[in-house]
Amino acid sequence: MTVQRTPLIAGNWKMHKTIPEAVDAAGRLAALLKGKDLPGEVMLAPAFPGLAPVAEVLRGTGIHVGAQNLSWETEGAFTGEVSGGMLRSAGCAFVLIGHSERRQYFFEGDKQVNQKIRMALAAALRPVLCVGETEAEREEEKTLEVLDKQVRTGLKDFVRDDLRGLVLAYEPVWAIGTGKTATSRQAQEVHAFIRNCLADMFDDEFAAQTRILYGGSVKSANIAELMRMPDIDGGLVGGASLDPEEFARIICFTG
Ligand code: PGA
Repeated sequence: MTVQRTPLIAGNWKMHKTIPEAVDAAGRLAALLKGKDLPGEVMLAPAFPGLAPVAEVLRGTGIHVGAQNLSWETEGAFTGEVSGGMLRSAGCAFVLIGHSERRQYFFEGDKQVNQKIRMALAAALRPVLCVGETEAEREEEKTLEVLDKQVRTGLKDFVRDDLRGLVLAYEPVWAIGTGKTATSRQAQEVHAFIRNCLADMFDDEFAAQTRILYGGSVKSANIAELMRMPDIDGGLVGGASLDPEEFARIICFTG
């Protein structure tokens, strides 16, 4: 099934930038992209304190704001947590869920990821479900098995109509922040596998419409090559999104 999927380039700022730094970088990015005919949608994910001020700076620019995490609860006595409704009210349209750093350092499992997707949808946020294998899992040739479980458990008990607007991000853990990018062939193989998994769980149309981003050391020098792959629909960019000039080059697919 051939369907045109609008590319999405998302910047994950992780735990970087104070509020003034975030506002400055978002403003510079907006100025660099102003008037350009962009190949797709753009999203920026600052840390929680930067969300509302960055959303304010980006208002009317067409650049979306996303959060990096949300609570699996709606509200209540959960000290330190941030709900989907709060994120929505801060101006977020997207939220990253199940990033490998959340899984690795904050012990998030697939069941929590599943519940967080439910919370995101309840708050009218578009979830970006992040999946990926570790280096050891790849070496043991368990990549596809691991991804199959992450996708199926993450999306368990949803029906396709719940998941309109869902985005997936394949981020091999060994490629995040290491400078090692998966080759475009390695990434394509996994993206095609994930798409088949979606077709099997839901249907062909849903699988064909759902965007699957690649993440892991994406930069302006490799984005064009990655984007040539039929099942790669954009990038989730960490380190290289911190510099507005470099991020603007990635957004425009120009090395
Ligand atoms: P990186 O991070 O681009 O710095 O490798 C990607 C991510 O973790 O989303």
